[in-house]
Amino acid sequence: MSLELSKKALAVKPSSTLAITAKAKEMRAAGINVVGFGAGEPDFDTPENVCEAAIQAIHDGFTKYTPASGILELKKAVSDKFAAFNHIHYDTDQIVISNGGKHSLTNICTALLNPGDEVIIPAPYWLSYPEMVKLADGVPVFIRGNKEQGYKVSARQIQDAITPKTKALILNTPSNPTGMIYTREELLDIADTVVKNDIYVIADEMYEYLVYGGQEHVSIASLNEEIYRRTITCSGLAKGYAMTGWRIGYTGSSREIAKIMGSVQSHATSNPNSIAQKAAVEAMTGPQHTVTAMLKEFDKRRKYMCERIRQMPLISALEPKGAFYVFADLTDALDKTYGGEKIGTAARFAQILLDEFQVAVVPCADFGFDDHIRLSYAISLEQIQLGLDRIESFLKKL
Ligand code: PLP
Repeated sequence: MSLELSKKALAVKPSSTLAITAKAKEMRAAGINVVGFGAGEPDFDTPENVCEAAIQAIHDGFTKYTPASGILELKKAVSDKFAAFNHIHYDTDQIVISNGGKHSLTNICTALLNPGDEVIIPAPYWLSYPEMVKLADGVPVFIRGNKEQGYKVSARQIQDAITPKTKALILNTPSNPTGMIYTREELLDIADTVVKNDIYVIADEMYEYLVYGGQEHVSIASLNEEIYRRTITCSGLAKGYAMTGWRIGYTGSSREIAKIMGSVQSHATSNPNSIAQKAAVEAMTGPQHTVTAMLKEFDKRRKYMCERIRQMPLISALEPKGAFYVFADLTDALDKTYGGEKIGTAARFAQILLDEFQVAVVPCADFGFDDHIRLSYAISLEQIQLGLDRIESFLKKL
């Protein structure tokens, strides 16, 4: 066949995080003891009360179509959570429940962007943002948060990147891949710039529950009325409640944007899974101790990992404040040789580590930083220990 396929779809890069995880899984299936630092999901089970609520929904026959943008009961739970946790007021008609955070972000891009609209994406970024923007005919514009800035960008950098075509800024806090969080003061400065230039903020707060050491998660939309009107706040159940497979995400936005996203969703996917919506209601309104327990365990692993890395040669990392990733700087290691060959890139480093030391990590070229790797601590402490031992012995050979 010579019929041409969609240029836009053909230009999409497959997700490299999923590729590494798949390769590690393949090696494991072949009996190789691989330590996988690639995980983008909590290693905990979905809380029992949440599973019970889903089973109850099935027994109650809650298995039909629901309203496309989600059931009122869940919108009410999301609205209450926005008020109590994020200090933002969104009525239920400002909320759209979707099939996961990814779906919400896709909905936002579809609702906001016209061909050629620019979207500012601070690097390092979660690798799906540029692809989502391009799929919605937008143009990603990258600015860089260097290590000295805690991998965050300043209001000044955002200002400098703004052109007449700028439509939105994507702001991810806590960040995947860096684990950094923006402080209230930093967000106030960014909010001023956004308001002054009259652009939108796409606030991705998927990891908002996972913040350590008494730090505060601040939602930019909570800062004042002007920034509230220009922000679409996005979150979901996946990371905080160990519900990655259930696929429930949500947004809070102006009524106008919520209405557009609701209609787009009504044609693209219809409602999110009815049973998962009931489970999400229980997760958000039921006992929260499993979230706290998970956070405590992640924190223990985070501290262990940072301490170990601090003692290793040729690798360094800032202490992450949130999410479940350590973003490690390999600049010093990349000049070294292994087997007579210069390592050169994080991708090559990751390849050697997987092939010869049976450790899977995520090289971060697709996150905008080709001299860094991402290590997830959503695996057991024993596995972390074993994996770090192996990384250390690799580094000591360089
Ligand atoms: N945003 C960030 C920064 C993420 O890391 C992820 C998942 O890895 C998502 C959004 C999407 O989450 P989900 O679609 O699983 O709800």
